[in-house]
Amino acid sequence: MTEMKKICLLTNDVETTSILNGGLRNETGIKVWKEGLPRLLDLYSEFNVKSTFFFIADFAQEFPEIVKMVLPYGHEVACHGLTHDYKFSFDIMDYESQFLHLQKSKIILEDISGQEVVSFRAPALRVNQFTPKALIDTGFKFDSSVAPQRLDIFLTLGSKNKLQWLGAPRNPYFVNEKNLARKGSSILKEVPVSSFGIPYIGTTMRVSPFLNNITRNLLYFETKNSNKVVNFLIHPNELIEEEKLDEKLERRSGNILKYLLADVLRSKLKVRNLGVPALELYRMELLFWKKKNYEFKRINEI
Ligand SMILES: [Zn+2]
Repeated sequence: MTEMKKICLLTNDVETTSILNGGLRNETGIKVWKEGLPRLLDLYSEFNVKSTFFFIADFAQEFPEIVKMVLPYGHEVACHGLTHDYKFSFDIMDYESQFLHLQKSKIILEDISGQEVVSFRAPALRVNQFTPKALIDTGFKFDSSVAPQRLDIFLTLGSKNKLQWLGAPRNPYFVNEKNLARKGSSILKEVPVSSFGIPYIGTTMRVSPFLNNITRNLLYFETKNSNKVVNFLIHPNELIEEEKLDEKLERRSGNILKYLLADVLRSKLKVRNLGVPALELYRMELLFWKKKNYEFKRINEI
């Protein structure tokens, strides 16, 4: 009798967000290309990982090399939208704008990679009721923008729509045509980002290795005897060292309480263990799943 292999997805969002200085920066993008991505690719080849890379398409268009360098390893090229500018978040765009953003970024990434691009993750995981149809109509087959039962949503932007996550299924499912966080009969499959109250992502891993250990162990006990998959989210911009610029914190939120919570607190915590320390913490994650005999796969294999 053959034992069913358990699956761990290590998914990567490739963008120019500067965690240290805030905002989108070309200098950060170049560091991601020259430093973050090579570190990640070396680690993955050491563990024989096949993985999915979600690229911001306007960044990829400017630096096509960042897409081309993942291709020889057999990784999947996927779409993280056209831009990470929060003024174009998917949860505030209508159907038409989402369609155009998806269509344009799909073409850019397919032209560079020569691969069909079928998987999508929304910037900042922000989506709305138009997103499923926009994805289906532009030929996407997989989405990974839902984090079921993730409880830190009030610290993130666009938290109102993310309330839907509380009732989202925990294993991969075909989505409802109007709600990515609900099961339905569409042809679009949701591969949720793992969370156990606390999200299983690079930020948690860096900010609190203690909470990350708890989350990882809970996910292991949940998935080891079920058909659920583990889906960890990391950014190559967590694996770079940047210089701190002396600039005022950009104020993104409208009211003062939200500003304190979402912007100040986040920006203080989020800079922990960036660069090589993050790489070493991440190596421990890979070692854990490897020892448990999980297989590292791409989203388009689910
Ligand atoms: Zn992102």
